[in-house]
Amino acid sequence: MSVLQPSVFRLDAHAAPVAAAERAERLIDPGFGRVFTDHMAVIRFSDAKGWHDAHVTARVPLTIDPASSVLHYAQEIFEGMKAYRLADGGTALFRPEANAARFRDSARRMAMAELPEDMFIESIERLVAVDRDWIPDGDGALYLRPFMFASEVFLGVKPSAEYLYMVIASSVGAYWKGGVRAIKVWVSREHTRAAAGGTGAAKCGGNYAASLIAQKDAIARGCDQVVFLDAAERRWIEELGGMNLFFVHADGSLRTPPLTGTILPGITRDSILTLARDAGMTVYEQPYSIDQWRDDAKSGQLIEAFACGTAAVVTPIGQVADRDGDFTIGNGAGGSVTDRLHQALVAIQRGTAPDPHGWLHRLD
Ligand SMILES: *Cc1c(COP(=O)(O)O)cnc(C)c1O
Repeated sequence: MSVLQPSVFRLDAHAAPVAAAERAERLIDPGFGRVFTDHMAVIRFSDAKGWHDAHVTARVPLTIDPASSVLHYAQEIFEGMKAYRLADGGTALFRPEANAARFRDSARRMAMAELPEDMFIESIERLVAVDRDWIPDGDGALYLRPFMFASEVFLGVKPSAEYLYMVIASSVGAYWKGGVRAIKVWVSREHTRAAAGGTGAAKCGGNYAASLIAQKDAIARGCDQVVFLDAAERRWIEELGGMNLFFVHADGSLRTPPLTGTILPGITRDSILTLARDAGMTVYEQPYSIDQWRDDAKSGQLIEAFACGTAAVVTPIGQVADRDGDFTIGNGAGGSVTDRLHQALVAIQRGTAPDPHGWLHRLD
C-alpha cells in the first residue's frame, strides 16, 4: 500500500499553516516533543458505527466532556515512531507494520477497539504527506505519536463504547546534542513498573504514570533514568521506564531480558537482536539479575550495557547507582559494540546501508 491513492481519508487542509520562514526558525533547534506540525490525523470509533470519520485536519486543541471515560479510568494507548529523511532525499518510516500490530495488541489488552493495521499505516502516511516539510534535515526526524483514548461520556466502569484515535507529529532534533553521552541509571528497589498478568507489555499511558515516581527518585539521585526490577522477586532486570536494556559480555555475546509479558516488546529491541545475529553475535534472551550485573561489571565479564528505543535509538549506560553499591560499566563512556549496533541501525533508517530485512517503508 502506498500514499495518495483514493481512500476513506478526507483532507481538511489547514487554512493558515505556519509560514515557511517561521517553520525554518522552529526547526533550527527543535529539541524533543515541543515543536508540532500543522495537521493531525483523526479516526473515530463507536460500537454503533465502527471505524469512521477518518480525516487529516488542522491541529487544534480538543474539546472533551469532563465525563469522558479516559479521564477517570485511563483507557489510553499510544505508539512512537519516526519518519526519516533519507540520504537520497526520499522519506521513509521504519517498520510501521510492527507499530500497527503492537497498537492492536495494546488495544486488546486494554479492552479497546482494535484499529485495523492498514488504517493505522495510512493515517501515518497521510499525515506525513501533508506535513513532510516539517521533517528536519540532518540527524533530526519527524516523531509520530499515534494514540487512542476512551471518549464515551459515562462514569460507569466498563470498556468504553467510543474511542478517538489520533496522530500528531513533532519535529525532533538529534536526541543527543553534540554526540551520544553515556547515561547514569538508578535501580529502583522500592517501585516496580509491571507485574505478571498486568499491562507491562501494552504501550499505555498508565504504565508511564506508574513509573514517574521512580524516575523522580532517579533524578533526585543525579541519575538520568530508572532501571526497573521484576515485581515478584525484585531481582531480575526488566527495562527502563521507556527503553529496553541490553548487556554486552566480554565473550562477545549480547543479552537482553526475555519478553515474558512484563516488558514492552520494543521494535528497536527486535531490530538490534536481528542486527546482532546478522553480525554473527551470540544472542541470549534470558533473565539477568541485578547482582549478576554488578558482579560481571566488577569482574570485567560485562563490558558494555545500553538502552534502546525509537526516541533516543541506542544510549550507552556508563554508571549504575544502586542500594547495594554503585558500579561502572566498562570505562563508563560506552563501547564499540554498542556503537557498531547503533551505527548499523541508523544507517538502515537513513538509507545509507542496504536494507536486507525490508524495514524501510518508503513514502515516495
Ligand atoms: C516504547 C517503549 C519502548 C521502546 O520501544 P520501541 O518500539 O523500540 O520504540 C521500551 N519500553 C517501553 C516501556 C516503551 O513504552
